[in-house]
Amino acid sequence: MDLVTIIAEIAAHMGTRDHRGRVANYIPELAKVDPARFGIAVVTVDGRMITAGDADEPFSIQSISKVFALTLALGKVGDQLWDRVGREPSGNAFNSITQLEHEQGIPRNPFINAGAIVVADVNLGGHQPRVAIGEMLRFVRYLAGDDAIAINEAVAASETATGHRNMALAHYMRAFGNVRHPVDLVLGSYFHQCAIEMSCRQLALAGRYLMLDGRHPDGGRVVSPRRARRINALMLTCGHYDASGDFAFRVGIPGKSGVGGGILAIVPGVAAVAVWSPGLNDNGNSYLGTLALEELARRTGWSVFSPP
Ligand code: GLN
Repeated sequence: MDLVTIIAEIAAHMGTRDHRGRVANYIPELAKVDPARFGIAVVTVDGRMITAGDADEPFSIQSISKVFALTLALGKVGDQLWDRVGREPSGNAFNSITQLEHEQGIPRNPFINAGAIVVADVNLGGHQPRVAIGEMLRFVRYLAGDDAIAINEAVAASETATGHRNMALAHYMRAFGNVRHPVDLVLGSYFHQCAIEMSCRQLALAGRYLMLDGRHPDGGRVVSPRRARRINALMLTCGHYDASGDFAFRVGIPGKSGVGGGILAIVPGVAAVAVWSPGLNDNGNSYLGTLALEELARRTGWSVFSPP
């Protein structure tokens, strides 16, 4: 069966599901999103774009921004980043603080909040948050080839007003010297990167460099092949927090989720996929988004654990 039919059928199938998970409400602005939405976009290595459902509806990318932020930080400081952030799955919730005490303020990986806050600190590089935020926005626009991508200021303000756990994480790591700028500047930058809005179509396009071994489809190089593979490896092992093992087991390709209900998934050499459904499972990952990716992987045979 061809990909267009498979994707249309997955979208139709998701539309019939009663259980959709629960929309994140700890960021009040995100609680306003309609849980009935579902979108999917697949861009293939030969440039075909296939979409279904609400694929052109912008949503808050939230923690998916951690992939782009990590890519930028590695470009700035290279492997020195790994002196300040680990590369192991945490086995804990995305906003957990417990491991930081034993591990001297070094977060387990760049995709849990603590790790992403250190990455935001690196990306700040002595500048004001607006400089780092501008750089991030330019980067995702370049990756997606779309200058319409923007930040939802209401979401950023909503998280700034309520993000006490992230403030606690940042202050705690500052006490260990692993956050080096003033905490309000680091979090200003982090909350704005999380509040970037993209549609499934834009997100799949932005993910192309990770399916293309680090190349931009325009021929430019975003990262080296080795770095692209390593980012994919981290997405597979850490991209879904304490459900990363389950995601690898069920879907079998690297993926990064966000509490806005989006997931970016990469089939190296084959496709970049974005799904969005705002209802979350208990781990804070999109419930239907995961189910849709599981069905897509099963029906296409896409997996990093089998020949292409
Ligand atoms: N901005 C969110 C937070 O820091 C991102 C979390 C997520 O998407 N898992 O809580």
